Amino acid sequence: RSIIDPRLNSDVKHHPEKLVAIQVEHVTQIVKTEAGLLTVLNDISFQICQGEQVAITGRSGSGKSTLLGLLAGLDTAASGKIRIFDEPLQDLNEDQRARIRLDYIGFVFQSFQLLPHLSALENVALPLTLARRIPAKQAREFAGNMLDRVGLSARKLQHPRVLSGGEQQRVAIARALVHEPKIIFADEPTGNLDGQTANDIEDLLFELNREQGTTLVVVTHDLTLARRCNRQLHLVAGYLDADEQPHNIPSLASVLDERVGLGS
Ligand code: ADP
Ligand code: MG
Repeated sequence: RSIIDPRLNSDVKHHPEKLVAIQVEHVTQIVKTEAGLLTVLNDISFQICQGEQVAITGRSGSGKSTLLGLLAGLDTAASGKIRIFDEPLQDLNEDQRARIRLDYIGFVFQSFQLLPHLSALENVALPLTLARRIPAKQAREFAGNMLDRVGLSARKLQHPRVLSGGEQQRVAIARALVHEPKIIFADEPTGNLDGQTANDIEDLLFELNREQGTTLVVVTHDLTLARRCNRQLHLVAGYLDADEQPHNIPSLASVLDERVGLGS
């Protein structure tokens, strides 16, 4: 049985390198602390293909959040190169990086970071009106559908402060996903949640990966979650200690499906 999907358009066959979603070359990050300069990431290199599920693991302080922030263009590296779908982040200005985030990236923060003065629905509609310039009414409709998907149909008009931690995290995930990003970065997305809620949220992330070929990059110190991914990048004190290759490779089919399905 051919591994290449017959529906695949020739574009991908002839340019397989287009499947690289994230390319990291010799990235080093240095931050200023009271004690002086601290090298938080040290000569990190790897690449992630579209549709992969990657766990970034490592002890507290090993540089996981710093790395994720760099990949998402929230910060710039001291040296090295990061490309998101061939866009060289280090060569872009703040506005251009914001545009890359809106176009390609959904980010789920550990601390949710919802806007307190907006309802759940308004929080989720925001990326649509900002990124896609979708009219407000339609954005609210899409946002409502996304909230249905994360099981929050009954809570759409509530403000974050009256929602539980799990519900707030679902809103944050709905907001990260509503504009159908090609990459989801999630920083300990289930760290603050009880076991069942954490499970439901994880299921949702993997469902999107399977259904839409979304590239999933999740920082976690939960080994159960890490094992659900098909690849683990392990950091030790700012060094890439191990890059465990896929033990199950389910994603190529969904990658191909995704390219055929979205066609963009
Ligand atoms: P992790 O997410 O793995 O727990 P972080 O990436 O948050 O680790 O941080 C890695 C190290 O860098 C820690 O020692 C942290 O204190 C330090 N660090 C990160 N960002 C800053 C900053 N802006 N200022 C000072 N220290 C920082
Ligand atoms: Mg962290």
